[in-house]
Amino acid sequence: MGKIELDVHTHTIASGHSYSSMNEMVNEAKAKGLQLLGMVEHDVGIPGTCDPIYFKNYHVIPRVFNGLKIILGIEVNILDYDGKLSISDDLYQCVDYCMAGIHFHCYKPGSIEQNTNAVIETIKNPHISVIVHPDDGYCPLDYEKVVLAAKKYHTLLEVNNNALRSSSRLNSRENVIEMLQLCKKHQVKIILGSDAHIHFDIMNFDHIEGILEEIDFPKELIVNYDVDEFLKYIDKKV
Ligand SMILES: [Zn+2]
Ligand SMILES: [Zn+2]
Repeated sequence: MGKIELDVHTHTIASGHSYSSMNEMVNEAKAKGLQLLGMVEHDVGIPGTCDPIYFKNYHVIPRVFNGLKIILGIEVNILDYDGKLSISDDLYQCVDYCMAGIHFHCYKPGSIEQNTNAVIETIKNPHISVIVHPDDGYCPLDYEKVVLAAKKYHTLLEVNNNALRSSSRLNSRENVIEMLQLCKKHQVKIILGSDAHIHFDIMNFDHIEGILEEIDFPKELIVNYDVDEFLKYIDKKV
């Protein structure tokens, strides 16, 4: 297998706490040799993010931008233990893909059963392609159940570089290792996300690489090496 072809968890200035324009993002991704760049902005619930009208106007943006293929999505918030999401239904048709995850601005951590149910119900949601950063020990999960659900419902679990280097999360590294070991055991594909909030961080996986090496995680299970493989996870969704 060759090199990393895609990074689809990145944010532009529109998310309110990120700092680069779309033009800067695309040029950085091109310079780093990516074949596909995905930009998502936070959904309502995260302070300072864009209004829904931002997503509704995505149609004006060419999906080949300065010669690079791009996709435009949304990072949706999981709101409760039943997997209720922040996104309004009319936005699904406006975006190329949806990622979803827990953010403490709009989710109160519950028991391991409650958190696991929240994530599994989101995995089952036919609009959601990726569960982002399921690694924070302050919101414990039953990883075996999550991994098996991801396999069954053809939803990707993300290993998030930004989360791994954050000091505000609990046991992220240990949780990612547990999740990856289970993905390896059950042959479940994952996606790496830089979660870049500034263009320099696009394709920055420096906190992930050592873990993948340490547990000898198979490249075949990482969709970032194959754009076509990744696209299978978003084609039937949204
Ligand atoms: Zn996030
Ligand atoms: Zn993000």
